[in-house]
Amino acid sequence: MADLPKTLDIVAPFFNEAQSASAFAELLAALEAEVGSRFGMTVHKILVDDGSRDDGAVRFAQALSGSWQVVTLSRNFGKEVAVLAGLDQSSADMVLIMDSDLQHSMDISLKLIAELVQSPDIDVVYAQNDRREASWRRSQLARLFYSLINSSQRFDIPENAGDFRVMRRAVARALTSLRDKRRFNKGLFAWAGFRQKALPYSPESRASGTSKWSRLNLIAFSLEGFTSFSVIPLRLISLSGLLAAFAGALYGAKVLFEVVFFGIAVPGYPSLLVAVVLFGGLNLTLLGLIGEYVWVALSESKDRPVYIVRDVVRSENAASKPTPGLLDG
Ligand code: UDP
Ligand code: MG
Repeated sequence: MADLPKTLDIVAPFFNEAQSASAFAELLAALEAEVGSRFGMTVHKILVDDGSRDDGAVRFAQALSGSWQVVTLSRNFGKEVAVLAGLDQSSADMVLIMDSDLQHSMDISLKLIAELVQSPDIDVVYAQNDRREASWRRSQLARLFYSLINSSQRFDIPENAGDFRVMRRAVARALTSLRDKRRFNKGLFAWAGFRQKALPYSPESRASGTSKWSRLNLIAFSLEGFTSFSVIPLRLISLSGLLAAFAGALYGAKVLFEVVFFGIAVPGYPSLLVAVVLFGGLNLTLLGLIGEYVWVALSESKDRPVYIVRDVVRSENAASKPTPGLLDG
């Protein structure tokens, strides 16, 4: 990987971000100028409209300059899939993935690119969010999540590392070869491997609109991480089942011992009720969990495409290529 990179693709998904369209287009133009003068790379911008319900795609098309394309998906598929749709379109030596809500600054983008350009041995430089979680409980939950999910793998999913990253062509190709339909990007980035380097940063606060992540979303997303990348929850439950059975056997032996040698009649109701409720609950939890894994297996086995493209709009100077995911009609 010795050749100096000559081209850079910027992949940015957006969903209902019409208000930040012109500001983000300006940021991209400034970034492009800087990347050109500092690293001599030509820039192409790939924006993915993830089924926005506002006129964001039109506004971006008006505001963007230079070489760009806006890929509009047929509906909202989620950021993880939108990023894949962008990567599918990319063919440059380096790819930068960033958000279009202005939370990812030009300054950090340049630092990421500079780091990768200067480190021929590194394949990926990712921005690692060093802003501490607002609440203690939430940060503990996050820590628990990562220690659980990383406990049995040959690769580590780093904490606080998102999609904001720059990578070489080989890595982008590796990512597009992973066609998981239920996508958990953090896991896929880690699974793909390569030599990765972290760059600490603090994201800007959102310029307008709101984050698309609700608490419920976050829980679902964490579950996605487990069912796509970890069997740990299943193993933990098997283990707790084993422990419970063992405790039950001990208790049974104790009762038998008391009856045979001391003639003590054991009052039965409370212990019976506890056992029934406890194991009923455990059983249902386990069933639900297995259901989650089965559901993932089912979605993956259906062999639907990961996303569908509605249309692609390009600047006149952008090279026209066949679009994966675009069904001709
Ligand atoms: N986004 C998307 N599809 C979605 C949700 C979000 O393409 O279904 C985009 C969004 O427009 C933004 C980026 O993904 O550019 C990050 O989303 P958001 O700001 O909601 O996440 P946060 O910054 O809170 O992690
Ligand atoms: Mg954001």
